[in-house]
Amino acid sequence: MVKFHVRGGPRLRKAYTKIQKAKTARYACPSCSKVAVKRITVGMWKCRSCNSEFAGGAYELTTPTGRLSQRLISDLRKKGAISKEEIEKIEAEIESAAKAAENFAQEGETAKEK
Ligand SMILES: [Zn+2]
Repeated sequence: MVKFHVRGGPRLRKAYTKIQKAKTARYACPSCSKVAVKRITVGMWKCRSCNSEFAGGAYELTTPTGRLSQRLISDLRKKGAISKEEIEKIEAEIESAAKAAENFAQEGETAKEK
């Protein structure tokens, strides 16, 4: 890919820069809370301080869908029990979040075609 060429267009350059920054940034470690987590490869993150490895987003440590699932699970843990109805509710919520992300990606695709 031609990195910073006029033909790329501002939208693509901005998107590329945003991803590149998220990808190379250091994140706070969920285990030892030091800002030392770096990306190894797609979806894999490693803390350089305590050597813990984490599964995360492809280009950032946590994704909006991941944060939503984690919040829902912790809410249910606080309540103490998970019923079948609650599981169905979570699945529906995660599905709608995934659809929203998909729509967002498709919008990007159509913008590229123009
Ligand atoms: Zn750590």
